[in-house]
This record gives sequence, structure tokens and C-alpha cells, in this order.
Amino acid sequence: MRASVDEGPRLLAHLADGPGLTRHRLRHPAPVRVGVEHLARAAEAADLRGRGGAGFPFATKLRTAARRGAVVVVNLSEGEPASQKDEVLAMRRPHLILDGAVLAARALGARRVHLVLPGDKPLVTTRMTAALAERESSDGVEWRINTADAGFVSGQSRAVLELMSGRANLPVTAWAPEAVSGHRGRPTLLSNAETYAQLASIWVHGPDPSTMLITRAGDTPAAKVLEVGIGAPWSAVLSPFELDRPVLLGGYHGAWVPGGALKGRRIADEDLAGLGARLGAGVVLPLPSGSCPVNETAQIVSYLAGQSAGRCGPCRFGLPALALAVDDAARGEGPLERIHELAAVVNRRGACAHPDGTVRLVASLQRWFGDEFLLHQRRECGYGDLAAAG
Ligand code: SF4
Repeated sequence: MRASVDEGPRLLAHLADGPGLTRHRLRHPAPVRVGVEHLARAAEAADLRGRGGAGFPFATKLRTAARRGAVVVVNLSEGEPASQKDEVLAMRRPHLILDGAVLAARALGARRVHLVLPGDKPLVTTRMTAALAERESSDGVEWRINTADAGFVSGQSRAVLELMSGRANLPVTAWAPEAVSGHRGRPTLLSNAETYAQLASIWVHGPDPSTMLITRAGDTPAAKVLEVGIGAPWSAVLSPFELDRPVLLGGYHGAWVPGGALKGRRIADEDLAGLGARLGAGVVLPLPSGSCPVNETAQIVSYLAGQSAGRCGPCRFGLPALALAVDDAARGEGPLERIHELAAVVNRRGACAHPDGTVRLVASLQRWFGDEFLLHQRRECGYGDLAAAG
């Protein structure tokens, strides 16, 4: 595990207890059987939203999936390379995740719970399978393990359902939400690991304080995972220096914002809407010293172009072309109009949201730091010098 961890008020509280079940049960009684509506109201009272990035209200998903043959899926495959919160949660609080999944499964009458584990993080697999062994059969559900491929799009919900059905772990077009028609056409409650951990915590401790896990990188030698109160000021996550620099919010499919625009705003999606940004899976990437937003974006778009599943033409051919256009602009070469043209060609043209997320990132750069492209053309980008002075 590469990230350092700060103790937090809920999910990351009492880390000294360790990951074992015996000490976990001293603070978290075993999940009881509870009705769907009862559990949905508890989730609503805490405004629990999916923590995998989509932010969809959990209570709505739960109610929609509440039909015969429901399946529960816990997604631990963090495809976003900048996010490490689910890995931290699995390593430090595995039973909180499993408690949340059992609560949901019992409410839905689901007999089977699927865990989707990241294939490139063997310690997570070891920890979660050890946690399942501690619980033996006391949960009254059948646990199924699935191992996801490493890859940016492998963790998408439809890619996960493909994996569970024995097909390639890649996204496909879907016409109905998975809560309506998911695994083998059955109603499927598919949520991220933090969402289930939050559910378990809310059930035992009530809705307050409402928190989220953040992975922040930047100038620290390693990423840090911390738990913050939703509505806290951004100074809880970012230093004064970082609040004067560009910040990428929401990960590689997120949006750049000027750090200064975060001053006076809270850590909450409502406060970010006017900036064109969202918290997503809680990835916060302040611009590292010695870098500039154009160069950072060029590197990320190049990475994202390489993560296309290669099935949709606009994604397969358009993203590499877009990456090349941004890279040319970063080197002060190539017309900027080319970026606009290519973004328009790939946006909303894929079977999944991969092209749209990539375009969102580029569009945010143009919105807030468009002048940087011109400075690059004149070879006057000053971020490296500014950073050295800072
Ligand atoms: S849009 Fe790209 S990543 Fe998504 S399914 Fe199509 S080819 Fe794959």
C-alpha cells in the first residue's frame, strides 16, 4: 500500500484496533436483518451517495434493486490510478465493508454477494479473503470472489458485470441501470467499497457527521488518504500554497479548477457545481511543484488514450489523436483548434463514458488555463519558475 493514512472520525477511526473481526465487533455489532425501506431511509438521512465516482443516491439504487433474485456486488477495483481510498479501506477496515454488504443483502433477500477485487493489488485480495474466512458462514450469504483486470475502465459497473459473467472485463453499452437489469439480467445493487462501509457506519452510528474519503497527492512523497467532513473547508485538505495553484478534482476524468476558487467554498458537490467540477471518487490532485497544468494534462490524456478498450471507433482512434494534439500544444506546436475539433468528435460517441471524461478534463484546462496554451506557444510557461520561487 503506497498511501499514508490519517485517522478520521468514522471509517478511519480507531485504526489501532487493526483489521481483525474480534476487535471490530466490539464497536460494530453484527448486521441484523432489516427491511429495505428502513435501510433506505437511514441512507437518505445521511444523504449517502455512491463513492465510486457517479454520486448516485444509494437509497434510490437500493429501492430499485428490491425485487426477486437481487444480487449484491461490492466493487473494490479502483481503476482510477490516482485513487487509493478503497485499497486503504480494505487493508484497514475490511469488516466495515463486509458489514455494509451483508446489511444490504439481508434487506434485499439476496443470497449471494460478489466481491470484485483488484487484480493488481494482491494485498487487498489477501486481506479481504482473510476477513471472509474470519466470518465463516455467520453472515448467511454466499460470498463470490471476482478478480478485475488492471485498467482504467475495468472498474466501470458494466465492465464489472461482464467480468462476473465470464466475459472480457470491459465496458459495454447498457440501456437500463444495473439495479433494474444487471448481473445476468437480475436486479443488481452494485456499489463501491466505501459506499458499503459508509452504510455500515451510518447504520450503527447514525448519519452525523457525514464524511468522505479523499486521496490527495501533489508534492508529498506518497499519496495520503484522509477522511473529511462533507462541508469542511478546503484548507482541511490543501495547504495555502496548493490553494494558490491549479487543482485537479475528481481524478483523471475530473476537472481542473484554480485553487483560489476553492477558498471560501466547502468540500461539497453543491459548492463545486459552478466551477464545473465534482468530487467524484474523492481524488484531489494539487499541481506538483515544477509542473504546469498543460504538461500534466498532456500526460494524463496520453495515459487515458492508452486505456481505451478499443471497441468504439471514436474512442479507439479519437483519443490517441486528441492526446497527440494536447501533447503538441504542450510543446508549443500544432493549432489549438485541433483540440476543439477532436474533443467534439469523441465526446458522447463511446459505448461508455471514457471519451466524455477525457474531454471533460481537457475542456476544464481550456476553461481555466486556456492562456497557458498561448504561453506554451511563446515558450513562456512560468509554472516551473513560479513553483521554484514558492
Ligand atoms: S468508449 Fe472506449 S473505453 Fe468505452 S467501451 Fe468504447 S472503446 Fe471501450
